[in-house]
Formats: sequence, structure tokens, C-alpha cells
Amino acid sequence: MTYVLDAPPVYSLAVAGSTARFPVNRIFCVGRNYAAHAREMGMDERDPPFFFMKPASAAADASVGDASIPYPPMTANFHHEIELVVAIGSGGAAVAECDAESLIYGYAAGLDMTRRDLQLAARDQGRPWEFGKSFTHSAPIGAIHPAASLGHPKSAAIWLDVNGARKQSSDIAQMIWSVPECIAFLSRHEALQPGDLIMTGTPEGVGPVVAGDRMHGGIEGLSDIRLRVR
Ligand code: MN
Repeated sequence: MTYVLDAPPVYSLAVAGSTARFPVNRIFCVGRNYAAHAREMGMDERDPPFFFMKPASAAADASVGDASIPYPPMTANFHHEIELVVAIGSGGAAVAECDAESLIYGYAAGLDMTRRDLQLAARDQGRPWEFGKSFTHSAPIGAIHPAASLGHPKSAAIWLDVNGARKQSSDIAQMIWSVPECIAFLSRHEALQPGDLIMTGTPEGVGPVVAGDRMHGGIEGLSDIRLRVR
């Protein structure tokens, strides 16, 4: 096979305990999957969650100690959203909720970084969210822990500090839709493929970061992420 241009790179993430890496295919994100975050965004917590996407090029390896992301252009309100990330290892369409965990390769802590001003302007005009959500480096993600050794966490503390101050603190048990429910719903609309990631929504406490800020977040049982905004 020859191409008329150099083929785009394979974006990949670190795997805990392995030198082999996880190749990123598509990134699906759940909106408003914690009731308290839906309320802080001015929305009805009883609305069903929904999905949006980021490109694979949004993935940024935040597993290394000196990781950083640039402050993105065209925003004055760049927000953190700490989230449980599900890494899909095998594909499937219309997967039953009881079979959903068999698709999962592993789990990681990640950030759905958001240009909140652009997202809310789009939301209020009924326009797509891409400029607010789907930009390069908008999905910094820590090491993926294989479910083969970790299991499938149902309850775990999730938290994010900015410059040493706690900003977000909840438990993944507070998700409105569980991970198997998200996989079952999503796979009815689009067949999941190996390498897909699902960012499962953020708890309350989202807020802005600026250049120079240091974020430190984690989920109990998974590797922490430490990330500087440059
Ligand atoms: Mn999010």
C-alpha cells in the first residue's frame, strides 16, 4: 500500500505493567452522567445521558510524571473534567448489558478538557459541541489498567486537585448510567471497535485552569494523573 501523503500517526496510551501500548481508535464521551454535575450545568438531572466524540488525536499520554498540555486557542474558560475512562478491547454491536464487560480491555483516569465558553455558546444555539470538546490534547489519559488484573470497579473515589486544592470529589458509583449500561446503549447506535475509548462523564466541581496550573487527579485503584497547563 502506498499513500499520497504520510499516513497519520497511531495515537496510543500507556498500559500499566506493560511496555506495549493501547492504540486509540475513537473516543466516545458521555454527557451529564453525574446528577450533581448536571445540576451545576443548569440542566435537569433526570434527562438521559447522551454521547459526543473526540478524535483520536485528542488523546494525550498523561502517564508520565512531567506531562503537560498547551492552553488551547480561542477560549477564556478552559475547564477540567476528571472521568473514568473505559478502554474497549474487543468489538461488538447491540451488546447486551450482561455481556458488556467482556468488551472491556481496561480502565484509566482521564480528563475531558473543555473550552467551556465555546461549548455553552454552541449548546445555547443548538449547534454541535466540537469546538468546545473535540480539539487536540483535550483528552489527557493516564495508564490503562487491564481488567484482567484489576477487575471491573463499581465503586471508587474519583477526585481532582488544582494547585493542591481539591476541586472535584465523588465516587464512580454515583454515575447515572453504569459502564455496562453505557456500552449497551452506545453499541445499539454504533458498533464498538477495539481501541475505542469511552469517557464516562464527570462529577460536580468542574472549573477553569490557566497556564501554569498543575492538575493532579485520580481514581482509587488506578494510576494518578499529574498534568501541567503550559
Ligand atoms: Mn465530560
